[in-house]
Amino acid sequence: MPELPEVEALTALLAERLAGRKIARCELGSFAALKTVSPPLHQLIGRTATGCERRGKYVCIDLDGIWMVTHLSRAGWIRWYDSLPAKTARPGKGPLALRVGLDDGSGFDVTEMGTEKRLALWVVNSLDEVEGIAGLGIDPLSPEFTVAELARRLGGLSANIKTALTSQSLIAGVGNAYSDEALHAAHLSPYKSAAKLDPVEVEALHGALVTILREALDRSGGLGAEELKGDKKRAMRVHGRAGEACPVCGDTVRQVSFATKSMQYCPTCQTGGRQLADRRLSKLLK
Ligand SMILES: [Zn+2]
Repeated sequence: MPELPEVEALTALLAERLAGRKIARCELGSFAALKTVSPPLHQLIGRTATGCERRGKYVCIDLDGIWMVTHLSRAGWIRWYDSLPAKTARPGKGPLALRVGLDDGSGFDVTEMGTEKRLALWVVNSLDEVEGIAGLGIDPLSPEFTVAELARRLGGLSANIKTALTSQSLIAGVGNAYSDEALHAAHLSPYKSAAKLDPVEVEALHGALVTILREALDRSGGLGAEELKGDKKRAMRVHGRAGEACPVCGDTVRQVSFATKSMQYCPTCQTGGRQLADRRLSKLLK
């Protein structure tokens, strides 16, 4: 799933390539993906792209006052073409959700692989009309995201720190992968209660999160949209690496599985050597 660094790199790439271009084609490949009816999609044709920015994990393209917004969800991506295929996209069961062509023949496809279709598109007059954007928490790369601010946001929560970090209304843009990596770097158990972190732990978590996101962002600068996914996987130390050796201590990376996803951690680095129970599984076994 693309998270803050990948979405930031995609928006930077789109901002550069879309600047000043007019929309020549806009074809929907998935009826289910489009969450709005007004303004209609065809009204985007002829409009000039004036910017592209990231909000949390949302890609927001400014078409001179009308916004085209995409949330790529778990298996979505944006594929850029210097020369967009001439074939008109039509609603169907394939991976293509949206095809957008520009006045110079270039353009991009918004695609979603797999059977679980969760990618979403909006066409709105204001970004606040997208509920998920209106409810976003603080951006961890903004100057306002200080140790004190993180402590304030975690205080009083009943959730564990893994859930807190991935909660978009608390901190925007962090998902399953970068939360696994930040918790590993900060030597924190994912099950630790968010409200019970002491000041030293909050500071370690803040430092780990910001460093990991900035490093990922630095690596992705200049990469093409297609190279970004592979780069993200290669750089992970525990996420997606169950059964492999932890690069810090050599212990075996373990995982906890949930219904549709799993998280990874290192027992030696994070849980005092204990293996965490799969809570869903342990409930069933009781
Ligand atoms: Zn380790």
